[in-house]
Amino acid sequence: MRFTTGSIRVEPDRKYVVLPRLGRLKVHESARKLARRLEAGTARILAATVRREGGRWYVSFTCEVVRAARTPTRPDSVVGVDLGVTHLAVLSTGEQVPNPRHLVEATGRLRRLARRVSRRVGPDRRVRRDPSNRWQRATRQLARAHARVANLRRDGLHHLTTRLAREHATIVVEDLNVAGMLRNRRLARHIADAGFAELRRHLHYKTEWNGGRLIMADRWFPSSKTCSGCGTVTTKLALAERTYTCTTCGLTLDRDLNAAINLAALAREVIDDRSGRESLNGRRADRKPPPAGLVAVKRPPGTAMAGNTGTVPPQGGTTPRLLVKAH
Ligand SMILES: [Zn+2]
Repeated sequence: MRFTTGSIRVEPDRKYVVLPRLGRLKVHESARKLARRLEAGTARILAATVRREGGRWYVSFTCEVVRAARTPTRPDSVVGVDLGVTHLAVLSTGEQVPNPRHLVEATGRLRRLARRVSRRVGPDRRVRRDPSNRWQRATRQLARAHARVANLRRDGLHHLTTRLAREHATIVVEDLNVAGMLRNRRLARHIADAGFAELRRHLHYKTEWNGGRLIMADRWFPSSKTCSGCGTVTTKLALAERTYTCTTCGLTLDRDLNAAINLAALAREVIDDRSGRESLNGRRADRKPPPAGLVAVKRPPGTAMAGNTGTVPPQGGTTPRLLVKAH
C-alpha cells in the first residue's frame, strides 16, 4: 500500500510516524536518521509504502535526498572483486570475505521447517479441506525463517558493498552470466544465496554516492584463466581447481585471488586508455564521472537507508492490518 498524498511525517520524538488514513504508528526501529535529514532540510518525503513480510509490518519512505559529495578514503585505490562460491568475495588486496556463517545455519533451519509443513495437513481445494492449525503455525514459522535468511543476506551484502565503496575509488567486478550458472544445480543454491546481482546493484549506486566508480568486466573476460603474473591465458581450467598454476611462468596462487588481481589490472587499462577506445577486446567499461557539488538522489523504493525503515510490531492496538484491509 503506497501513499503519495496527504500528511506523511515523522513525529519529533522519532518513535512514531504519521501516515494518511492509518494515523500515528509506533515504529520499532528509530526513525532518527530520516528525522534528522527532514529537520535539516536535506530530505523530502515523496511517498510512503506499507507492507507486510514474514510476520512484520514495514513502512518505507521514498525520499528526495540532498547528499554531500564524498570522496573515497583512498582516492587512487583500485580493487578487483571476484564474487565466489567458496567465499562471498575475494579482493585483489588478498582479503577473503567469507560467506556469512549464520546464513548457512539459517538455511538448515529453513529446510527443516519446510519438511515440517509438508508433513502437516494443508488446505485441499478439491475436497474442500481447511488447513489444520498446526499446518498454519508451521507455515508462519517457515515464512519468518525465510524473511530472516533474506535479512541476513541483505545485511551481509550491505556491509561489504558500503565498505568497498567508501574506501576504493575504482571497483571492478565481473558481469557474471548468472542465468547460465544457475543451470549447474550444485552451484545454483550458493549463487542464489550470495545474491550477485544484488551486490552489483549496490556497488553501482554506492560508488556513485561516494564519488567512486564501478567497472564491469565483460562476462567473456577470462579473469580466472589469465595468469596475473605474465598474462598467459590457459584454455582449460576446471571449476574444481581452487589453485591457479601458470604453466608458462610457474606462478601459483589462489584461483579467486588470481581472478581478482586480473580484474583490478583491467581497471588500470581502462583508466590509462582515455583516448576514446573504451571498448577493448569486447570488454565493457561502465563509467560514471564523479558527481560535483551537491547531488540530489531520488532513492528508488527498497533502497532506503537503514533508519529510514521502521518496523511496526504485528501486535498492539494500532495494528494497521485491519485498517489496511478496510481500504
Ligand atoms: Zn604466468
